[in-house]
Formats: sequence, structure tokens, C-alpha cells
Amino acid sequence: MDDYKAASSEGGDKIYCNCCGKEIIKTEITDTHMDHLHIEKSWGYFSSKDLATHAFNICESCYDAWVSNFAIPIEDVYIEDVFIYSDEELRLLNEAYQKEYCK
Ligand SMILES: [Zn+2]
Repeated sequence: MDDYKAASSEGGDKIYCNCCGKEIIKTEITDTHMDHLHIEKSWGYFSSKDLATHAFNICESCYDAWVSNFAIPIEDVYIEDVFIYSDEELRLLNEAYQKEYCK
């Protein structure tokens, strides 16, 4: 697996969770992947990774497992400005979500 493709966010090619290796599936709605965490970190001086940039994707299941080990729990901050999907888009998203979590 190409590390760059694995770490890329959106853009046509398949993307994978760098933790479990599963594909982060794209729904039938154009250019919409199941929600996931994408991180890009450019390390600077005073680190052991001077000037290296790391990028990776984490699926929601791996994210949940990862953050459950944090010493300080993550605080939920709810989004007030929510994108409104059509009923058809919501149906497709719900179907994709069910497929992902019923594997
Ligand atoms: Zn994963």
C-alpha cells in the first residue's frame, strides 16, 4: 500500500485507515467518505522528526479505541453550523454507515 495514498484525504482514490488498514469507504454521494480523522503534522525543530511531515487517516472505530486510552477524556463540543443533507443523501449515508458497522 502506498503510504501517500493511504494518508491522502479526499480526491478519488481509495483511502485507508492507517491503524487497522480497512478502507474508509466512499458513499454513493459523490466524493463523500465515511467520516474519519485525517491528521497532517509538520514536525519542527526541537523534535526528533525535524522538518518531516506525517499524514494519516484513522477510521471512527480506531479513533474510539485510541481516545478511550487518553488520560484526560475528550470533551464533546457540538457543531452549531451543520450542513443539511437531503432526505435521499441521509438515506444513502445511513445505508453506508450500517454496512460499515455491520461487517
Ligand atoms: Zn481503523
